Amino acid sequence: MLKTPKLVMIPGPTPVTRSIQDQMGRETVAFGDSSFVQDYKEVLADLKELWKCSGEVFVIAGSGTLAMEMAIANITKRGDSVLICSNGFFGDRFIDMCQRKGLDVELLSAPWGTSVTAEDVEKKLAEKKYDVVTVTHVETSTGVMAPIEAIGKVVKAHGTLYVVDGVAASAGAEEYVDPMGIDVLLTCSQKAFGVAPGLAILWASTKAVEKRRSLETIPESYADFEKWLPVMHDPSKYWGTPAVNLVWALKESVRIIKEEGIAERYARHLRQADLFDGALETLGFNVAAEKAFRAPTLSVYLYPEGSAVDDATFRKILAEEGAQTAGCLGDFAGKGFRMGHMGNVDKHILVSAIAAVERTAMRCGMDIEPGKGLAVLQKGLVEEH
Ligand code: PMP
Repeated sequence: MLKTPKLVMIPGPTPVTRSIQDQMGRETVAFGDSSFVQDYKEVLADLKELWKCSGEVFVIAGSGTLAMEMAIANITKRGDSVLICSNGFFGDRFIDMCQRKGLDVELLSAPWGTSVTAEDVEKKLAEKKYDVVTVTHVETSTGVMAPIEAIGKVVKAHGTLYVVDGVAASAGAEEYVDPMGIDVLLTCSQKAFGVAPGLAILWASTKAVEKRRSLETIPESYADFEKWLPVMHDPSKYWGTPAVNLVWALKESVRIIKEEGIAERYARHLRQADLFDGALETLGFNVAAEKAFRAPTLSVYLYPEGSAVDDATFRKILAEEGAQTAGCLGDFAGKGFRMGHMGNVDKHILVSAIAAVERTAMRCGMDIEPGKGLAVLQKGLVEEH
C-alpha cells in the first residue's frame, strides 16, 4: 500500500513550510559573512519590534529548556525566592532547575486542565516577598493557557520579576513584552514559529538586564546575558557560533509572521483552535482543558467516556493515516492524545489532520459519522471570509 506522509501534528516540532526548509538547505556561510551578519541583525530587530520589547533580545543555539535555564540564571542568585506557577508537566520543570540553582522554591499549582489565576498569585504575593514569579503561558501537557496579562499586572504591582515560558505559545498566542509587564519571555524555534528545533529565543526587559548587571559574575557561562549582549548588539562579534541556517530559517518565519500580521496571526490561532476543538468534540472526544483556559496552539483530546479505545493503537493508526500526535502525560496519560494546531498550518494541513482522525476513529471501531468533524472545520473555514 502506498505510504501516507505523516504530518507532524505533535505540539512541536510543527510542520515546516517549504520556504523555511529552503533556508535550512542553503549553503552555510561563515558566521562573520557580512550578509549573514545583516540577516541576524534584522531578525533580532524584528523580534524586538513585533513583541514590543524595549529591552534586549537573544537568539542562540539551544532548545526551550536552555531558554528556561537562561531566564533563571540571569535574574537570580542563591537564596532568592521564586514562586513557580505551574499548570502541569512543563511548569513543574522550573522546580528542579530552581532548586539546583539554590533558590528558595515555592510551588503554586493548578489542577490539571485548569490554570493558576491572577487572584491566586495576588494572594501569594500579599503573604510573602518573592524575587521572581514564573508562569508557563501554554502548558503543553494539558493544553491550558494561563492569563499572563492579568498575572503580569499583579506581579508588577509587587515589584517582582516576571518570567514567562512562551515555548508552546510564542508566535501563536498573544504576547507582548512591555505591555504585559514581562521581564523575561523565553521560547524556541520549533513550535508556533514553524522552524526546526535548535534555537532558543529570549526577550529581557530593561529591569531584567539591570538585575543581571547587579549580580556581577554568575556561575553560568553559555547562558550568561552579558556574554551574548555584545553579539546581539553587533552580530559580527563572536562568543558562541550562531546556528547560521536556523537564523535564516527564523528570519523567513518572521517574514511570514509580518506578512500575515502578528495580530491576525494570534486571531487565526484562536479561530483555528476553536474549529479543531469543535470538530473533535463533534466526534465525541473531550477537550481536557477547561473552556476558559483553552490554548490557541495545541489541545489535549481525551477519548470519549466509556470507549474501549486502546491509546497506543489509536495513535499508531492515526500516524499511519497521516497525522503524528503525542501521547498524554501525567494525569492524562493513556486517556487521549496531544495535538498541535499552531504555526504555519494551512487549510490543507487542517483538513488532512481532521480527516485522519476520522478515519482512525472508524478503524478503531468508534461509532462516528464520517465527515461530521470535517464539516465543522469546513464551515468555519468558509465563514472566515
Ligand atoms: N516549556 C514548554 C511549555 C514546553 O512545551 C517545552 C517542550 N515541549 C519546553 C519548555 C522545553 O522545550 P525543549 O524541549 O525545546 O527543551
